[in-house]
Amino acid sequence: MSSTRITDYATYISSRSAARKPSAVRALQPLLAIPGMISLGGGYPDTATFPFESVTMKLKTGETLEIGKEDMAKVLQYNATAGLPQLVSWLRDLQIHLHHPPLPASEWDICVTTGSQDGLAKAFEMLLEPGQPILVETPAYSGILAILRPAGVKIVEVPSDSDGLDPTQLRRILSSWPSDAGPRPRVLYTVPEGGNPTGNSTMWERKQEVYEVCAEYGVIILEDDPYYLLQFSDKPQPSYFSIDVDGRVLRFDSFSKVLSSGIRVGWCTGPKQLVERIVLHGQASNLHPSNLSQELVSSYLHHLGHVAYLEHARGVRDHYAHKRDLFLKAAEKHLGGPQPAAEWVNPKAGMFVWLKLVGVADSGKLVREKAVERKVLLLPGEEFIPSGRPTPFVRAAFSTATEEQMDEALRRLGELVRGEWQA
Ligand code: PMP
Repeated sequence: MSSTRITDYATYISSRSAARKPSAVRALQPLLAIPGMISLGGGYPDTATFPFESVTMKLKTGETLEIGKEDMAKVLQYNATAGLPQLVSWLRDLQIHLHHPPLPASEWDICVTTGSQDGLAKAFEMLLEPGQPILVETPAYSGILAILRPAGVKIVEVPSDSDGLDPTQLRRILSSWPSDAGPRPRVLYTVPEGGNPTGNSTMWERKQEVYEVCAEYGVIILEDDPYYLLQFSDKPQPSYFSIDVDGRVLRFDSFSKVLSSGIRVGWCTGPKQLVERIVLHGQASNLHPSNLSQELVSSYLHHLGHVAYLEHARGVRDHYAHKRDLFLKAAEKHLGGPQPAAEWVNPKAGMFVWLKLVGVADSGKLVREKAVERKVLLLPGEEFIPSGRPTPFVRAAFSTATEEQMDEALRRLGELVRGEWQA
């Protein structure tokens, strides 16, 4: 097979992204680190005027981590848009450890983002003009629909099932793209592990096939993988990034599910030319992610090291696996049986179950009104369907409810659905 390596990304870049130029002020930032440099150039405030001196972070293990006076002065000042260098370097080693990227080391890069949502929003802007099509694994994470709808792009639904994104459907869409429908899509968005809302993962054989189809049609893959470390199987599946010989995968990771969601630290990994453009966007929007958040995360990670971090993540994974089991037990009790009120597939990763309510054509009204009246909160399936068409599905999260709360919520839901049959 001929090489499908992408060397020039210019044809993928939107005019808006192409118009972004490096900020002169931001360009000074690395020069400040040169010993002996006297800066009269940047409009930096004097950190001596700031009231904070140090931060002491107590861990649940009883250990204490300290951001001392000297590091604190750096934390309190503006810093690199791509992220704190010590954090970026830790993340780079993690990516090598987990994914063994086949691209030469000089051709991929990392930038820290304010959660993966921030990186995704920037990537969509970088790769899409208004009116252009994008392939979106459906059901889709509603957070990206909130970005794509106002962007005026054409969302092309790629169906998925219990084994994840379906490469046959992807090929069908691309190969039968009507000649009068404008250019074929060149970007695919997918959540490969523990999809939000479905909890399904794309099986490894399928991932390889999806990658091949994308190579054949020149498609860039946006791999949004916040649940990668929350795969319930003891043999985690490899990522798209780990097979990316072409430089067509931009990967989004996040600490939101494993360290803290409020701390807002994620990162984006992939072809250098694309990561650079995301950084340029950052120079114009948030300048850089919060240093304090990055430093808290970074000092914790350096304290732990990669192996202990992954052990911590396994503990989190086991916690959710247990929650999932409790949820499924309650679902079996209240929604199963000879006359089931719902059908579902056991989630393979993450924190969601996608319930198909039996005998309910449109879950929207039921969930928004009747379930709320009974004090049960669920999300209606249509929120995750780009076209917004009604569905019998609801998304249930098993992440925070207690065993008793799950049992009671699903009892109420079962009663509600069965009540509908009589109506
Ligand atoms: N992608 C998916 C699939 C998610 O479920 C979420 C969080 N709900 C995000 C991205 C955004 O996560 P973050 O907190 O890292 O911005």
